[in-house]
Amino acid sequence: MNLESCFLCRRPVLELRGQFTILHPYQLEEGDEAIEHEAYGWCHLACLVGSEWGRLWHDRLRTHFLTVRGYHEVAEVGPMRVLQHPRTEDVVALDRDGVMLAFHPREAANKRAVAEGCLLRVRGEMNLEFDDAEQVALIRAALSEDGQFPLLRLVDMLGIASVILTPRALERGALRFDKKLKRRWGGRWVSAHADYELLVPREVLACVGLAGRT
Ligand SMILES: [Zn+2]
Repeated sequence: MNLESCFLCRRPVLELRGQFTILHPYQLEEGDEAIEHEAYGWCHLACLVGSEWGRLWHDRLRTHFLTVRGYHEVAEVGPMRVLQHPRTEDVVALDRDGVMLAFHPREAANKRAVAEGCLLRVRGEMNLEFDDAEQVALIRAALSEDGQFPLLRLVDMLGIASVILTPRALERGALRFDKKLKRRWGGRWVSAHADYELLVPREVLACVGLAGRT
């Protein structure tokens, strides 16, 4: 697989917003134990939450966004701190356990309310290189015949279903066929659009004036 491994569980990290993060060593401070333990890099948010590093990363990320990136702290909701950039309006919500959710207010325009919060639609491109030829054949056949391949099946196939933090956000998610991206299907590569959702607590949206527009 061309995917990075989680520094906590060593399993592949599928880059789905709201399910993974990349923690950079330069965001740490001198003397942080995370440096010595190499507790940085790609990881599943579910793994970070359950680890001893979540709290430290919460603190370091908060400092990074406030002092380096120019964000302002706009609210504190329970264990979550909500930061927003004054010019770009980009929002970052940091939970004390290490969860980081990033989005732009415009992404909340067509949000969908569910019991757990609000789901914001995410669309991106995904380029995957598999080790297993059978998996490639299966996904390509589904994309060509049905036009899609469910993301929950993909995470299952990769053995990472148990480290998906919010499966709800992937329930309707799928890889979707695209004629142009099909041109990149050489070797064991599969390219498609990834279409899924990002689960954001309602209170976080309320802090930045995005509540009630469901
Ligand atoms: Zn992991």
